[in-house]
Amino acid sequence: MKIYNTLTKRKEEFIPLKPGQVKMYVCGPTVYNLIHIGNARPMIVFDTVRRYFEYRGYEVNYVSNFTDVDDKIIKKAVEEGVEASVISERYIAECRKDMEALNVRPATTHPLATQEIGGMLEMIDTLIEKGHAYAASDGTVYFRTASFAEYGKLSHKNLDDLQAGHRSIQVAGDEKEDVYDFVLWKPKKEGEPSWTSPWCAGRPGWHIECSVMAKKYLGDEIDIHAGGEDLIFPHHENEIAQSEAANGKPFARYWMHNAFLNIDNRKMSKSEGNFFTVREIADRYDLQVLRFFMLSAHYRSPLNFSAPLMEAAKNGLERIVTCAGRLGELAAESEGGEKSALKMTAEEEENWRTAESLTAKYEAAMDDDFNTADAIAAVFELVKLANTTADESSTKAYVEAFSARLAKLCGILGLIIERKEELLDTEIEEQIARRQQARKEKNFALADQIRKELAEQGILLEDTREGVKWKRA
Ligand code: AMP
Ligand code: ZN
Repeated sequence: MKIYNTLTKRKEEFIPLKPGQVKMYVCGPTVYNLIHIGNARPMIVFDTVRRYFEYRGYEVNYVSNFTDVDDKIIKKAVEEGVEASVISERYIAECRKDMEALNVRPATTHPLATQEIGGMLEMIDTLIEKGHAYAASDGTVYFRTASFAEYGKLSHKNLDDLQAGHRSIQVAGDEKEDVYDFVLWKPKKEGEPSWTSPWCAGRPGWHIECSVMAKKYLGDEIDIHAGGEDLIFPHHENEIAQSEAANGKPFARYWMHNAFLNIDNRKMSKSEGNFFTVREIADRYDLQVLRFFMLSAHYRSPLNFSAPLMEAAKNGLERIVTCAGRLGELAAESEGGEKSALKMTAEEEENWRTAESLTAKYEAAMDDDFNTADAIAAVFELVKLANTTADESSTKAYVEAFSARLAKLCGILGLIIERKEELLDTEIEEQIARRQQARKEKNFALADQIRKELAEQGILLEDTREGVKWKRA
């Protein structure tokens, strides 16, 4: 298997630290809001990477954090007049719901930054002892970038050039030795969550969290570290500096970064209104469509989100789901009589060899830096082969082999291809009546829940003056 490594800027053969095992860490979201579809990209991509490693027989220890202490969380807590933990707990729960709907499996461990403060204090202490960090008079602790000779190796930036260019922006009164020194620990401000430390009551900087959580749950050396490309600098560069300076060992062997998701060819931005949460998409589409859409591009290519592309993804997925449904029906029909023959005919065996070669094509695409776009193309060829060669006269052996293969290859991509049972019109109308009743009783939580459940089954409601109208998505 080959992986493109940001560190070396090359595709490299994957060699695990321990045979048969993969230790991977994926930077998770900061939980102050519902996740947006950009955040969903690394979740879907690296969940698929994990699934493919497992298909290839590896045991994967997959760690992904929730950053639950941060300026944005604190700001939101102040706005709502609640503790920061109320905000982070709420959005962790919401994020888990979105992950489930996207069929993103929970990590082996989802550590929380606030639960790992002890480890952070220890690592900061080690860094100070080794001369890689220093405390300013107000108790802020900085990492001394100049002490880490390899600083810049991930982002391929040269520290001397960086410093020369930025010397002038050093703020007067700042006790930083160097403009690229970054915060490991900072003093608390009034009303902020804080922890005691040898330097001051305060809270950790963002970068140290990931170094510590990776060390605790995976060890000093890990196979893969991943996240969106915006994290390369400074976040991941700083993680390398902290971990390698503290542990004295190379940190991650392979650094994987997904490219960004844009909307209508523009950067996602709340202020410009081109911004969607995963939850908003769930109101219009089954989230399997979003997953399929994300995987229809290579993870290192920028991806543009637009209504026509989502429609194309919906149709593409539908083709696979329809084929899987038809194979299921054919298998069920061939329960008895001659058709139940357990052995493929000679012609079927010939076709099956084509199916095997398409599977090999799929594997070759995935082995080549997880090229899910080409893997999906191989799945479509398989669907075409099934549609043109499997029918009522096929043996049970043939249709079942096809059915299982399609499910297997889609399963690696995390795509659920069993058709959800369609609701009957009468059932939909009963649910709408229940929702109206709930609204009358001012039970809006229940009313919303019913709307959501219907949306999950592809039923969209519209409240009009003439009453509630519904349609199938
Ligand atoms: P954050 O909560 O901002 O730390 O982001 C969590 C993860 O989502 C990180 O790996 C980011 O790189 C990634 N991410 C944020 N925005 C986008 C985007 N528009 N496209 C792809 N990945 C993104
Ligand atoms: Zn991180």
